Amino acid sequence: MTTANAPTTTESSKKDDPLYRALADVFGYSSFRPRQESIVRAVLAGRDVFAVMPTGGGKSLCYQLPALLLPSVTVVVSPLLSLMKDQVDAAKRNGINAATINSVTTSDEWRAIMAGIDDRRLKLLYVSPERFNSESFKETLRRADPSFFAIDEAHCISQWGHNFREDYLQLGQIADMFPDRPIAAFTATATEQVGNDVKTSLKLRDPFCVVASFDRPNLFYQIAYKDDFDRQLLDFLREVGDEPGIVYRSTRKKVEQTTEFLKKSGFKTAGYHAGMSDEERIRAQEDFANDAVQIVVATVAFGMGIDKSNVRFVVHGDLPADVESYYQETGRAGRDGAPARCALFYGYQDVAIRRKFLDDYEDETARVAAAKRLDEMVRFAESDGCRRVNLLRYFGETYRPIDLASDENGDPQSRPAATRCGACDFCVGSAERVDATIDAQKALSAMQRTGNRFGAGHIADVLVGSKTEKVVAMGHDELPTFGVGADKTKQYWRYLIQALLTQGIAALAPDFDFPIPQVTSLGWDVMRGKRKVMILKRPDKKKKTKKSASVASILSAAANPYDKSALNARDRRLFETLRALRASVAKAEHVPPYVVFTDKSLVDMAALKPQTPEDFLLVNGVGRAKLQNFGAEFMDAIREFLRDNP
Ligand code: ADP
Ligand code: ZN
Repeated sequence: MTTANAPTTTESSKKDDPLYRALADVFGYSSFRPRQESIVRAVLAGRDVFAVMPTGGGKSLCYQLPALLLPSVTVVVSPLLSLMKDQVDAAKRNGINAATINSVTTSDEWRAIMAGIDDRRLKLLYVSPERFNSESFKETLRRADPSFFAIDEAHCISQWGHNFREDYLQLGQIADMFPDRPIAAFTATATEQVGNDVKTSLKLRDPFCVVASFDRPNLFYQIAYKDDFDRQLLDFLREVGDEPGIVYRSTRKKVEQTTEFLKKSGFKTAGYHAGMSDEERIRAQEDFANDAVQIVVATVAFGMGIDKSNVRFVVHGDLPADVESYYQETGRAGRDGAPARCALFYGYQDVAIRRKFLDDYEDETARVAAAKRLDEMVRFAESDGCRRVNLLRYFGETYRPIDLASDENGDPQSRPAATRCGACDFCVGSAERVDATIDAQKALSAMQRTGNRFGAGHIADVLVGSKTEKVVAMGHDELPTFGVGADKTKQYWRYLIQALLTQGIAALAPDFDFPIPQVTSLGWDVMRGKRKVMILKRPDKKKKTKKSASVASILSAAANPYDKSALNARDRRLFETLRALRASVAKAEHVPPYVVFTDKSLVDMAALKPQTPEDFLLVNGVGRAKLQNFGAEFMDAIREFLRDNP
């Protein structure tokens, strides 16, 4: 895949550049996110585009901005009704003439759309892929003679992707019908196979290919062992405060348990899983979008249709199936660019349960692939070092940090690599590591002395000195290692053995059906005292765990100018006032609050306190349309606040 450099633009030429003018006037941004500018320019030059961008990377601007500057309508293909509706709402708020055609479009709406197409005032038309099957729609398209086509979630066209949609295959017709119109395909799936499928099936012609960084700099990652999830969740929620977020659980039953628990603890919570009625699920989704509930507890069924940009945290209460899922699910946090937290709690049990899920695969190749992905997930969760570096490495990317304080970050390849991010539990030091060499020697010796043919549970029994039937029958209560680990719990030993496995100090025996850990050559080095073993510290059930208060303070120091905890007490009150105003405006307009203003915009407003239209335009995310629609009301609120709080 070839990647091209973004053309550079000097400061002085920016003011006259129609691109930068539209960026500021319509979207209210002073600069492009990495990759946006080069994509927009390629489209305007009439070139096809294939872009891999992570969720929250700012795809919509890549096709909305050219749409504004091109003569006739731009057609956007998107797979989900709810997403299209949100996108159209958001575009309209920015003063862009946009519409969607779907199964519930009335004949009046149709007429309005056709009129907009004919007089070229309609700029964006969102449609579902099914449309391309109908002759009448193709007729409409010919009449509209669109300037440009954007295909969102383009991986749906690939059988190798995780969301294959038969209807997407129809989209190959576009290139035949409109040979001289650019097509831009967007996806967040980075594998080469999917990329090749997209390019061939859509018949892209020498596309401009862009792979944006998968780094999400505003997300804070933390991973901890689960001992008492309810308590750990409450501790976490206390740290994040009254903010919207998602808690993922692996089964419906756990979703129900956690929902009940949070409700009892006084949180406005809704559950979400595939066993609920459509109606209940839609209500949960809407209540969440409108900030009527704070927390949604959900299975992975929740998320595809979620465009809420102010999700401030994502908690995983169980181990995700693989790193892709973890990335996707955590990616729903902080799409507005303001800081957000991602916490994963997992236990040894989760791995066993996940392995059981694997039996559901009928196809053997698929099962093996899923098992491998699960192993990678465990390795990621257990590995040493910066979470972000590890996560990006999984996606084949070297971590090259961007400067959060500036939006000018050019080509990622030109930035220096780093081994620490400063915004994960590992980097801030809240993930403690301990020297477990002596315990590792004990465990390895127990494996060795029992003949390298027993499971972790049995080894742990030997270590804690538990006279189970099996231990006695095998005579393992006579071994010198019997009971040498009685100062620790059986759980601890299982966890330690898992850590030894992930570090390659032990390995699973190849020809057993049951997982049997065996000593490896690295393990022998440990037993001979030639190698140290460091493991992540596990919260000890008996002792109360140290509160990670440090995380919150480090977070605010993470140099993100849109972090509301960076506001002083008075500005913070103003932020809350503006937030309440946003809620009532959103309610009156029947749109989700983040469509009115993002959290980032509110933080900026609370800090800048604009009282003139010129100043109001300086607020991040505010263009002319938002100034016109909401400026007066919000400036009034600011003035009133300043009067009452001199
Ligand atoms: P995606 O569709 O790739 O998941 P979106 O298009 O929804 O992402 O954009 C994610 C967020 O980033 C939105 O809140 C959007 O307003 C913001 N954003 C996009 N481009 C810029 C930019 N150039 N400067 C600042 N914020 C931006
Ligand atoms: Zn880090």
